[in-house]
Amino acid sequence: MGLSEFRNEPFTDFTQEPNQQAMREALASVEARLGVELPLVIGGARIRADERFASINPSKKDQVVALAQKATAQHVDQAIEAAWRAFQVWKRVPPEERSALFLRAADRLRRRKFEAAAWMVLEVGKNWAEADADVAEAIDHLEYFAREILRYAEGKPTVPHPQEVSYYTYEPLGVVAVIPPWNFPLAIPMGMALGAIAAGNTVVLKPSSDAPATIYTFLEIMEEAGLPPGVLNIVTGSGATVGDALVQHPRVRMVAFTGSREVGCRIYEQAAKVQPGQIWLKRVIAEMGGKNAVVVDEEADLEEAVAAAVVSGYGYQGQKCSAGSRLVVTQPVYDRVLEAFVERVRALEVGPAKDNYPVGPVINERAYRSILDFIEVGKREGRLLCGGEPADGEGYYIQPTVFADVDPQARIAQEEIFGPVVAVIRARDFDHALAIANNSQYGLTGAVFTRNPEKIARARSEFWCGNLYINRKCTGALVGVHPFGGFNMSGTDTKVGGPDYLLYFLQPKVTSIKFR
Ligand code: NAD
Repeated sequence: MGLSEFRNEPFTDFTQEPNQQAMREALASVEARLGVELPLVIGGARIRADERFASINPSKKDQVVALAQKATAQHVDQAIEAAWRAFQVWKRVPPEERSALFLRAADRLRRRKFEAAAWMVLEVGKNWAEADADVAEAIDHLEYFAREILRYAEGKPTVPHPQEVSYYTYEPLGVVAVIPPWNFPLAIPMGMALGAIAAGNTVVLKPSSDAPATIYTFLEIMEEAGLPPGVLNIVTGSGATVGDALVQHPRVRMVAFTGSREVGCRIYEQAAKVQPGQIWLKRVIAEMGGKNAVVVDEEADLEEAVAAAVVSGYGYQGQKCSAGSRLVVTQPVYDRVLEAFVERVRALEVGPAKDNYPVGPVINERAYRSILDFIEVGKREGRLLCGGEPADGEGYYIQPTVFADVDPQARIAQEEIFGPVVAVIRARDFDHALAIANNSQYGLTGAVFTRNPEKIARARSEFWCGNLYINRKCTGALVGVHPFGGFNMSGTDTKVGGPDYLLYFLQPKVTSIKFR
């Protein structure tokens, strides 16, 4: 089936009036549906639980975006049962059909991109460009996997044997529990769930409680494209009830998780315990947090470096796993870079995501409190140069904050804050800068700004992180171009959007037939 070469979905140009208009209309149409009740989706059936919880607009905290069901452990059982039933059929659907279904779903999402983005603007406080990039990444996953399914279907060659022929093929695993975070509420759940489904598995997806509504666009486009009932089940509810029940369930074959280090480590440990009746070792992939460093060397284009450091640090309010939350600058240019950085950060305006401010709200009350607590710690550990306070408004707004002269061992230089806070660290020279960058329990992304080829080569071999960017911001990974995943406590480094990803959702089988 001659598919065209994979190409990333272009971003929407919001300087164009028709696109602005389309976004405003989509926001109005989603606003008219706010408060909608979202069902559990088990084997295609829409189910209500006894209790519900609200998903809130962080830009306007008294606005309820949607009401999601609080599923129980029984619902988890039912969903796993439905997923196993669907698996018996889905695993035998030819790869070409799965691929074609993914392409149809990509077309549907393309047609609904403004609406999908509008849900994110209102549910998780992304500005228009950030929300649009999330949708584009989700489309990319559909297009990329549509091609990867076909590649893996070819299997692998084995060494010839005089009396036998052997076939090395890939089989799906079974039921996969997918547990995403809220910060890429379409692209991340779709990346993990589509990886599983492309490979022939079925999924029980537990959305983040901060972003349940956005997921339903995913379900709808897949159903419209012809996905059979039970292949994608949605069970909303708390991490403690639904998450634990899923992870510990003896009939879950694999857990695909993206989220914090704390929860990822817990899942890894719990999934390792073989439960009564369990007949496999669960596979776990876990992509976790980051404390990413942007290194600026004296031989860099400083203006470009500073602009990229601002986008890396404060894009989506610093709530990206890839956020450049440490800015490490070598001594000769430290003062100049710091001054230019602070000037740009001061110019960032904070306000509602719907009105497309460069900096919007942080996700919820808990994050708001935790980030403000970290800012208090920062006031003791560093020199506060801008921000440091909540910002005005009806949501969870925090001023973009810069701390200078931070010790590399300080808490604000070591712990993931996940908010609009950057710690600026002085390095004696490039060697010292690399040592500071590597001084972390994490190892997700990093950026180095220098024009010196020897330093670039050093960074390539010594900067210990999963995604290293040279002379470019450390956020904004593109499917296929920047397969994504981190070292150390940033996770299992599965590189979503890359050529090895589907392998995590497959098990190789070798069949050898003796000649007569
Ligand atoms: P989180 O760990 O709090 O939650 C992630 C998911 O786990 C949610 O769906 C949550 O409900 C669920 N969960 C919570 N407790 C659970 C339990 N006991 N059992 C099973 N599931 C449980 O993370 P978050 O706040 O949603 O997301 C932010 C974090 O995610 C940050 O640390 C960020 O760096 C990380 N992240 C990493 C990547 C990556 O690719 N490495 C990408 C995005 C976000």
